[in-house]
Amino acid sequence: MDWETLRKRMVEEQIKRRGIRDKRVIDAFLKVPRHEFVPPESKVEAYNDYPLPIGGGQTISQPYMVALMTELLRLKGNEKVLEIGTGSGYQTAILAELAGEVYTVERIESLLQRAKEILDRLGFKNIFYRVGDGTEGWREYSPFDGIIVTAASPKVSAPLLEQLREGGRLVIPVGERYSQDLVRITKKGERFKEENFGPCVFVPLIGEFGWKND
Ligand code: SAM
Repeated sequence: MDWETLRKRMVEEQIKRRGIRDKRVIDAFLKVPRHEFVPPESKVEAYNDYPLPIGGGQTISQPYMVALMTELLRLKGNEKVLEIGTGSGYQTAILAELAGEVYTVERIESLLQRAKEILDRLGFKNIFYRVGDGTEGWREYSPFDGIIVTAASPKVSAPLLEQLREGGRLVIPVGERYSQDLVRITKKGERFKEENFGPCVFVPLIGEFGWKND
């Protein structure tokens, strides 16, 4: 397979055409080999315009959704970013290309291990991993310049808001179990500015400050 050609086409047709403008985000999408993050049986579909199953009832998100959420974080290069829901590790790799350090939390141990193996093999050195309930954040390393939640939440978790740095951004799908809105929250002093970027559908965020069961 000519992965590079498929990757370029994905970037042109799914990412740029739909309005992603941040050149650093576009370059990261051209660089990160998405096919490495999907199970062998779906490799040929890796660059297609939809999410794919990765085992454990979970998914690697649609490329455009990964791009949009990443662009909304407005990363410049030195940030400390917290990611909740490592999944395949693809979004983690994109973030690690664009920020200084990425702290990623996944509740399913086998998924985290697989993601870590791939990310280690690809040479990423600025990623820190934890198995656990990401709705609690990762207080030890807070505050974060950016927090991204890649699973659907019934509400915005209070610990995540507390762990945002001044001016920091939290990008999270919030809403019902099977339909949500993509929301960006920016910390401004004692206040939080909230912006809505439209409908989306994610697997549920399961945990203390998320849904209570699968
Ligand atoms: N961004 C990932 C990718 O591109 O592969 C997709 C992540 S998938 C849509 C959502 C992930 O969130 C799943 O792997 C799921 O196990 C994880 N998850 C759900 N609840 C969680 C929680 N409380 N803490 C950490 N991870 C959680």
